[in-house]
Amino acid sequence: VNEQYWAGAAAGVLRLQRCARCGSHQFYPRPLCISCGAEDVVWVDTCGRGVVHTFTIVRKSGTPAVVGDAPFVVAIVELEEGPRLTTNVRTDRVDDVYIGMPVTACFDVKRGERTYPIFVPEHPAADDKR
Ligand SMILES: [Zn+2]
Repeated sequence: VNEQYWAGAAAGVLRLQRCARCGSHQFYPRPLCISCGAEDVVWVDTCGRGVVHTFTIVRKSGTPAVVGDAPFVVAIVELEEGPRLTTNVRTDRVDDVYIGMPVTACFDVKRGERTYPIFVPEHPAADDKR
């Protein structure tokens, strides 16, 4: 059910499911619409933009896969289309991340055979004015 999500990520596009009946978007992928129950959900490309809904900064990690990456930001990003997803916000200035920060998807993180979408600040220079 999530094949199009991963194919999109490999192609540099963030894809979501959209209900052909009620028009709502959803994430994570499911075989039916969580708003109206219709089974007619289709995959659509998104603009890849959203805002930080909430986040935490990992300053020390013992997990072997990311032990050298700290500090890093784990965030829930709310996409312009509505759904939220758990992801990373990549920045050298982790202390400048804030709730409501505009972010955009980036597709250069490969783990194994999959490309994972992460997010980067959309207007890094704007942070200086806060
Ligand atoms: Zn629906």
